Amino acid sequence: TAILEFENINVVYNAGHPNEVHALKEASGQIQEGELISIIGPSGCGKSTLLHTLDGLVRPASGSVSINGRKIEGPGGEKAMVFQDFALMPWHTVFQNVAFGLRLSGKSKNEIKDHVMHYIKMVGLEGFENKYPHQLSGGMKQRVGIARAFAVEPKILLMDEPFSAIDEQTREIMQEEVLKIMLNEKKTVIFITHSIDEAVFLSSRVFLMTVRPGRIITDLKIDIPYPRT
Ligand code: ADP
Ligand code: ADP
Repeated sequence: TAILEFENINVVYNAGHPNEVHALKEASGQIQEGELISIIGPSGCGKSTLLHTLDGLVRPASGSVSINGRKIEGPGGEKAMVFQDFALMPWHTVFQNVAFGLRLSGKSKNEIKDHVMHYIKMVGLEGFENKYPHQLSGGMKQRVGIARAFAVEPKILLMDEPFSAIDEQTREIMQEEVLKIMLNEKKTVIFITHSIDEAVFLSSRVFLMTVRPGRIITDLKIDIPYPRT
């Protein structure tokens, strides 16, 4: 059975106002455990809205999102999100930002320290743990957002253009690193990208969306084994 299922989702912004937008219309899909799915489509077609609805940040006007058959109640739980605008807490250091999701984990201070440093190293930011977000480049902030999401070791990762701000060389390293974890740990991942290369290199399935209907138009399986060469 599907780990994540969404059925007939409708999302309407500014309902009843002249600027009403139907961002998603009857969007449905089933995602199996361990699948790596990319979402592509033009600006404004509802990609972020779909991801935010799957996370529980956006409540659909109708339709449902379920994880392992149970309706989601909001963000968190088995899910973690990498936000397009990073959403770091500016008054917290890199360390504190990455540690944020672990404060209720029951881990000891030392365990949290090792755990957080592991993920800070994963994104290549060792030595920056005591810096504040404003002291970092856009790409580094994005890497903090990735580390924070991975640090809670979620079953399902939702990532909104997770590599878009990272410089080209670091991006390849980050993509390899993320792909390795996703495959080794059988994580279920859904990410938005503007790069067809990234969709083909990283994902096993592509949701193609278009602006007008606000729904997934085509669901393409990629039949090339990893590693892609
Ligand atoms: P994408 O991620 O594909 O660019 P979005 O999901 O961000 O698309 O947006 C889908 C549509 O919904 C667009 O027309 C956008 O302008 C609109 N929209 C997104 N967020 C809001 C919001 N908070 N309030 C009103 N309209 C929004
Ligand atoms: P917690 O980890 O329990 O959420 P925080 O250190 O994040 O505690 O602070 C609690 C609240 O106080 C936050 O939700 C935030 O809104 C506010 N806050 C803390 N420090 C600052 C700051 N330097 N600037 C603005 N708001 C802050």
